[in-house]
Amino acid sequence: MSKIYLIDVTNRDGVQTAKLGLSKLAKTMINMYLNEMGVYQSEFGFPTTRHESNYLRVNLKLAEMGVLHPIRLGGWIRATVEDVEQTFNLVPEIKDLSLSISTSSQMITGKFLGRKNEEDILMMAIEAIEAAKAHGAEKVGINAEDASRTDPDFLLRFASLGKEHGADRFRYCDTLGYDNPFTIYETCKMLAKETAMPIELHCHGDLGMAVANSVAGAMGVIDGGQDAYINTTINGVGERAGNADLVAVILALKKSKGLGNKYKFGVPIRLSKAWKMCKYASYTFSVPIPINQPGVGANAFAHASGIHADGVLKDPENYELYDLKELGRGEPELVETGREISSGEYSGINGFGHVMGKMAIEFANQEEAEKILELVRYANVLAQQPLVADELRFIAEYPDIVRDLLTLTPLNEPAHL
Ligand SMILES: [Zn+2]
Repeated sequence: MSKIYLIDVTNRDGVQTAKLGLSKLAKTMINMYLNEMGVYQSEFGFPTTRHESNYLRVNLKLAEMGVLHPIRLGGWIRATVEDVEQTFNLVPEIKDLSLSISTSSQMITGKFLGRKNEEDILMMAIEAIEAAKAHGAEKVGINAEDASRTDPDFLLRFASLGKEHGADRFRYCDTLGYDNPFTIYETCKMLAKETAMPIELHCHGDLGMAVANSVAGAMGVIDGGQDAYINTTINGVGERAGNADLVAVILALKKSKGLGNKYKFGVPIRLSKAWKMCKYASYTFSVPIPINQPGVGANAFAHASGIHADGVLKDPENYELYDLKELGRGEPELVETGREISSGEYSGINGFGHVMGKMAIEFANQEEAEKILELVRYANVLAQQPLVADELRFIAEYPDIVRDLLTLTPLNEPAHL
């Protein structure tokens, strides 16, 4: 029986969103939380972008060390030989790649302005796949940007040729959120049947259907006999109206009428990690979680009206579809109401010792404490907000890794001061 896997794109679609961004430490923490959650793969960034190189290589090192395991770490690039070469030049250890190219006539005409036709698109995709495989990529996905506005016959040709030339997965991108659950189900079922290759669903929320389309698309792929990979983001962040929300996708597949028994995840999902992860993403993006967000919104388990409150007190299942503990909620949280000492880029050793001591982190000696403090200062320069306990613990545990993570060298030339 075919299964469902999650590929989270918070560190790619999420950070390329207007007005949003993350420090390299925050992106690393997101990978750690996704791994704990049971997400199959994190699309962890842009391997052709120079300021990502250290971050990407450090995270691949964490994978090799078994810290970021079993999650896979995949890069996103354009489907060109040039991008593939730049990728392996900057991040030679990378093993998972998604190669993206526009396939709709709208975009081929509107973006390439007559310089490319459908045959050129096929040729570019084939050459990029072959180059990626030749450089040692283990898993290569081929992405059809704007797939939902692409002629289905051309889409089928694109995916089939991709498979023939070594692509392991095909990504169906509903780039503008144009599909609905019925159309995406039919198209993806047809593609799964005809190509006999695993299919990824990449859905956006411009019409409010990102989660519904992801679920329906995955059902189509599985009914077509193939594994389905759903692209998600934490709290649904992403371009414009956002991507399919990770927690909502999991809840829908597990709890919606009749779905849980028929469409199953290929790896165990630890939903109990959701609360902590979503709170962290909200803090680090500086974007509040909407009050009515499924599962993790402030009102997801709140009841006020007489009939509802009475009903839920008698039996929560009267008005709740799932238990708050399943999402890791319900534990009391400590909020400082008095004096507060936090970490910052200008922190001193005394205040720092106080912050770390509160988390029961001890240092072997003064020298080690000074070293960690210096890293914490630099992490703060990039984060521009106090670090959270998990970040401080991570820095204390992997100081050498964090040093590389925080190292950014623009233009390869020293400034002349
Ligand atoms: Zn997208």
